[in-house]
Amino acid sequence: MAEPVLVSACLIGSHCRYDSRTNHDHELVRRLTEEGCTIVPYCPEEAGGLGTPRPGASIQSANAAAVVDGKARVVDVHGRDVTAQFLKGAQGALETCRMHGIRRAYLKERSPSCGTCATHVDEVQVPGPGVTTELLLRNGIACTPVEGKKA
Ligand code: SF4
Repeated sequence: MAEPVLVSACLIGSHCRYDSRTNHDHELVRRLTEEGCTIVPYCPEEAGGLGTPRPGASIQSANAAAVVDGKARVVDVHGRDVTAQFLKGAQGALETCRMHGIRRAYLKERSPSCGTCATHVDEVQVPGPGVTTELLLRNGIACTPVEGKKA
């Protein structure tokens, strides 16, 4: 039976980036298809209610773990608090994984939502996961970072 895997929607060609661009990674899609995986695309920031395009956002003065624990915020470049939308998107990702029996995710690196090894704090790239990845990792989902292509 095909294994369902969660993939950041921008990596499979959705123009859901904050700037309406995509990170379409044809090689990733080809490899997962060859492996017999069923790709389940998901964009936590759109699912959380943030439109596209939208102002860029980053974790404020902390890390994703603090956001998930309710001890830190995510703010956009205009200073608007978007923590609730980020947490809603992260929770939706986890629910999607549970619904489909997903154990693996391929996520766009450096995003404040989807980053795995790198994310953005105070608009600076730093080591550590984004908010969605933090929640998925806490729940046993194996997360693989993907650079993606900007298009
Ligand atoms: S990195 Fe994640 S939140 Fe950002 S556009 Fe891609 S899927 Fe959406």
